Amino acid sequence: MRLIYISLIVFTLCFPFTIRAEWYADSAGTMGTNIYVEVWAESDTQGQLALKTVMAEMERINQLMSSYIDTSELSLINAKAGSGPMIISAEMFELLDKSIKISELTRGAFDVTYASVGYLYNYKKNERPDEKTIASLLEAISYKHIKLNKENLSVEFTHEKVKIDLGGIAKGHAVDNSISLLERLGITHGLVTAGGDTRLIGDRRGKPWIVGIRDPRDKQKQAVVMPLESSAMSTSGDYERYFEEDGKRYHHILSPKTGKSTYDVQSVSIIGPSSTFNDALSTAVFVMGLREGLGMINRIDGYDAVVMDNQRKMHYSNGLQQ
Ligand code: ADP
Ligand code: MG
Repeated sequence: MRLIYISLIVFTLCFPFTIRAEWYADSAGTMGTNIYVEVWAESDTQGQLALKTVMAEMERINQLMSSYIDTSELSLINAKAGSGPMIISAEMFELLDKSIKISELTRGAFDVTYASVGYLYNYKKNERPDEKTIASLLEAISYKHIKLNKENLSVEFTHEKVKIDLGGIAKGHAVDNSISLLERLGITHGLVTAGGDTRLIGDRRGKPWIVGIRDPRDKQKQAVVMPLESSAMSTSGDYERYFEEDGKRYHHILSPKTGKSTYDVQSVSIIGPSSTFNDALSTAVFVMGLREGLGMINRIDGYDAVVMDNQRKMHYSNGLQQ
């Protein structure tokens, strides 16, 4: 017994940080939201590197895709693409290409050009555009105004008033990228969350991860908890950014058809393998509403949905009903 004890001390002294298989976790604020990472690592070195890698990736994507940073690639596109084709990064090109495909799939419910009107809302300052302004800019909302050229990786807006915003897909993309990086570091059990977007590697060592869907009207409560493994889930709700005026809630998910918030549902969660798609699809289903949205998810292989309607009733896609 004594010998084992001494050997253990000697061992620990020789390898103070290297061999310590355990959970490592970290959180930070970037991309306008909270980031949380948790990994099972075989050593302190691996654990710390995993956490650092994810946080750096989140910040890299924030610098590239934030509309609040003047020097971001997104801001440069909004400043220039209305007056002619401009060459963009392969990463931005691919994400815009995906965004357009999701616009087609969702019949325009997901549309990054929503921002042509969307930028006139300021939820912190209780500001919204008036009817006349919305009407005058509505024709600038259409993904069909975005022309991508694969030959030279360029983008051009064919309407001068077009603005784009990636708030409905960039966090999902950042989570997917982070998960790939963790897998490359050899992580086999992990979780990455950016706001409402979560993706998992494996399980929580012998049990599933528990991912919550919060009650849209009570921060402290979960509406549903989902046990998940090697999967991902994204939630869109009318509670993330909003203000109230005369009893009406003006929130951050806008119908591209009207330039205004939609009210058919309070919360949508999409479960599927890709956070990028989950993120965009949760926003799309929120806009499409219960019937059309759930109908679409039921037709897409590998994706499921949990929806809370505006009467606070829960609805589940076919895949979740067994
Ligand atoms: P969050 O995690 O920020 O709540 P969501 O996935 O719920 O994000 O998407 C909402 C965000 O998507 C909005 O803040 C806005 O940036 C963007 N957005 C709003 N309406 C649309 C739309 N119709 N199509 C695409 N993006 C949208
Ligand atoms: Mg979303």
